[in-house]
Amino acid sequence: MREHKETLYIHGKDMCVTSHRSLSLPIFQTSTFAFPTAEEGERRFAGEEQGYIYSRLGNPTVQALEEKTAAAEGGERALAFASGMAAASAIITALTKAGDHILCSNGLYGCTYGLLSLLQKKYNITHHFSNMRNEAEILNQIKPNTSCIFIETPINPTMRVIDLKMVSEAARRHGIPVVVDNTFSSPYLQQPLTLGCDIVLHSATKYLNGHGDMIGGIVVGNKNFIEELAYTVRKDMGGIMNPFDAWLLNRGLKTLHVRMDRHCSNAEQLVRCLKQHENVSEVFYPTDPAHPDYKVACNQMKKGGGVISFRIRGSKSDAMKMMNQLNLVKIAVSLGDAETLIQHPAAMTHSAIPPGDREAMGVDDRMVRLSVGLESWKDIWNDLEQSLDRL
Ligand SMILES: *Cc1c(COP(=O)(O)O)cnc(C)c1O
Repeated sequence: MREHKETLYIHGKDMCVTSHRSLSLPIFQTSTFAFPTAEEGERRFAGEEQGYIYSRLGNPTVQALEEKTAAAEGGERALAFASGMAAASAIITALTKAGDHILCSNGLYGCTYGLLSLLQKKYNITHHFSNMRNEAEILNQIKPNTSCIFIETPINPTMRVIDLKMVSEAARRHGIPVVVDNTFSSPYLQQPLTLGCDIVLHSATKYLNGHGDMIGGIVVGNKNFIEELAYTVRKDMGGIMNPFDAWLLNRGLKTLHVRMDRHCSNAEQLVRCLKQHENVSEVFYPTDPAHPDYKVACNQMKKGGGVISFRIRGSKSDAMKMMNQLNLVKIAVSLGDAETLIQHPAAMTHSAIPPGDREAMGVDDRMVRLSVGLESWKDIWNDLEQSLDRL
């Protein structure tokens, strides 16, 4: 009855019918839970009896959301965090110790890059940026102290795509867990766990919620890993999602498939138009036949997603001018919202990355990133076109 993902996003798997058969998920806006007896409190702390204790450890609204997102990714269990970065830092804290090494995709979200730099400085956890083009390259770069592989695909903002099945097969030979930041695709377009990867994370702030009104993160993985994460890192570092944001996210998820289909079809139209404009020198979109990773993208993604990067013919000031001349399209970081957003990665999301590393990732001053919204694509194009025409 619930085997199709569209149905799952709405109903969850066996979403607990909590109070009075309320159709909408109730919000348990509480910090703590009263124990019927002192002995029962003792047993809950000892893990001998199920039951809520305190909302930093678990909360019914948050848990209902976690069960739904686990099912959506095809994973055993999920945990909700206060932000995508709380999720990423919790995973890395759980998987690494001082002196370890992380192999990562050549291109990462700016703050994930910042986190890796911090860990290197404080705990000598080193990292290497890999193109991950084939198994030999990966096997070559795995060191005795490599404790995880951390991948973004499509990579923000270059939209390069990494073959997740290939990477997970290479990693399995060394027993190294593969972590995938699946924010750009959402489980509707790509499910890394079904391709052999071990852990998925999301900035739920983006497509999962889809309405630009909360910040959140999700981690999905097997039962053992998630329990360890819940009862060590998340409990003691404290980055849990709050019940109201879990409620918003649960509501956003109900329309994930409907929204993603429109994000993608709008993006396909805009890619076609952008490629024909004389003031655009290059367009980066995974399922564009001219994209270098077109084949891998078509194999592992249902559609190309809602993010397009492109290069303006000219200089940084032309790119800035193009953004400043827009009306409908808003200049803002973040992505996955109903509103179309544009940003300049080198000056904004990726500005903390030293220019040398940034250029090695393929991010230069003429690149802008567009998060295609749910408006009529014709209105979005009219706005982009009037600005590009005036460069
Ligand atoms: C936004 C984003 C993050 C960070 O998520 P927050 O919810 O802002 O903490 C991580 N990875 C990717 C790919 C993102 O786009």
